[in-house]
Amino acid sequence: MNIFRSSAAPPRPVDAASFTGTARTRLLASSDHETPVHAYHVQFEDHARTHWHTHSGPQWLFVTEGRIRVQALGQPAHDLDTGDAVVFAPGEKHWHGAVPGTRGVHLAVNINAVTTWLEAVTDDTYRGETNHR
Ligand code: MN
Repeated sequence: MNIFRSSAAPPRPVDAASFTGTARTRLLASSDHETPVHAYHVQFEDHARTHWHTHSGPQWLFVTEGRIRVQALGQPAHDLDTGDAVVFAPGEKHWHGAVPGTRGVHLAVNINAVTTWLEAVTDDTYRGETNHR
């Protein structure tokens, strides 16, 4: 058993080299037994989003507050509501952030995944056309 206390890992500002806008992240738990798994709580303020990136393993996102916009390369963006989830495949280029005009929070579970950070998401892409649900 390995307990992770929230008091031991307060939210930290994200790296400006891999995010646009104001976001905070907190490591919820991690495990390095056989398959490494890392779980994070990520808060995005209005207009905040990640840069484009890939994960070498799957990434599962669970929207826990507000709304989260996600986009995979070559596809329209999608707006997720609280309670929705999305799974990105290993190597799938994507980004995630708040839906414009609101804030959002997701949990992220990275499974045996190293993240490769790429270019920033432009304002045009961020505000671009979405396929709603
Ligand atoms: Mn991701």
